[in-house]
Amino acid sequence: MANTKKSLMGLPMQMLIGLVLGVVVGMFVTADFAATWFKPLGDLFIRLIRMVVVPLVFATLVAGAAGISDVSKLGRVAVKTLLFFMGTSALSVAAGLIVANFIEPGVGVTLSTEGLKAANVKAPSFISTLLNIVPINPMESFAKASILQIIFFAIMFGFSLNWLGEKGKPVYEFFDIVGKLMIRMTSVVMKFAPIGVFGLMASVVAQFGLAILLPLMKLILASFIATSLLVIIVYIPWVKFGIGIPLGTYFRGIFEPWLIAFTTCSSAAAMAANLLASRKLGASKAIASFAVPLGNTINMNGTAVYMGVTAVFAAQIYGIDLSITDQVIVVLTGVLAAIGTAGVPGAGLIMSTLVFTQIGLPLEVVALIAGVDRILDMIRTSINVVGDSTTSLAVSKMEGELGKEPFDPDNPE
Ligand code: ASP
Repeated sequence: MANTKKSLMGLPMQMLIGLVLGVVVGMFVTADFAATWFKPLGDLFIRLIRMVVVPLVFATLVAGAAGISDVSKLGRVAVKTLLFFMGTSALSVAAGLIVANFIEPGVGVTLSTEGLKAANVKAPSFISTLLNIVPINPMESFAKASILQIIFFAIMFGFSLNWLGEKGKPVYEFFDIVGKLMIRMTSVVMKFAPIGVFGLMASVVAQFGLAILLPLMKLILASFIATSLLVIIVYIPWVKFGIGIPLGTYFRGIFEPWLIAFTTCSSAAAMAANLLASRKLGASKAIASFAVPLGNTINMNGTAVYMGVTAVFAAQIYGIDLSITDQVIVVLTGVLAAIGTAGVPGAGLIMSTLVFTQIGLPLEVVALIAGVDRILDMIRTSINVVGDSTTSLAVSKMEGELGKEPFDPDNPE
């Protein structure tokens, strides 16, 4: 017991120390040195946490779905989860638009975009995106870590298992135990987090000097303010009054996935820690194992903010006025672009071209933003994961399940 308590108290602090040390050391070493010696530590950490994701999500979701005997409950949970995802995503793009209109990050930016090559991205059609959720071969989905397909298969698997009744019990128990085992493995892997965070921060700080950041400082500032505004206006009241969790408990609870997302710029990398954090904060097993992986792929509130901010930034660079209609289009396509963004570094930058195309902005601006995108990515990814755990808590609360399944990742029950 004492051991458990120590690690729960210690890890966030150790990660914070890793972060601060990484920033300090990064200021004194060259980018090459950091890339050779520190970045591999970060990469090792990312590999470790990504290693646990597929079996963790599959096993917990199968056991979760098999544990729901009432099919209509899954429908209810799914609808509420999706509504929260869509609602918060739309609010996020709007926050980005409003703040950027106010701060005007693109006004006065004299950087030439001449000679910069635009990324050429084609958005997949809506129908094919939906069709793609159904795997042709689940083994391929596992191999490629296609989370939406894995979620679909796991839910079908879990329900079928439930309908098998007594006969299916050994299989249910098997996945239940595998889920607990993967939770335990995740918490072991997380012990390496402070070193991984150190490596990632040292290499980012060594790579980005002030000279690179300064010209686009207003863009970074606008992203930061818009994201903070979203937290203050939407998340804080939602958590405090809507869900009813004390803010201190909540922020301490989400600190680990938040920091992993911030340093790795990958929500996929933060997913396992996020699942554990959501359950520690009181989300039920079935709801957390559905909402967190699903949100990890489709609910990207930070990326949605970024869509709003960069659209205004790009328009200002080219001296184009965005009409109200344009801004509504930005909200709609921004939500879609955020849904389609993969949980890996830099994915949002590529997807922003979807929004730019819709309102007729030249795509060359993407190359301009790319110079500072790592910094913007840290801001947006950290909020991407917070949205998922908060939704799992809110839906658990609405289902009367918040805090009903006490959870300790070092002793998963
Ligand atoms: N890096 C983000 C994530 O993993 C996606 C993005 O680039 O917006 O959530």
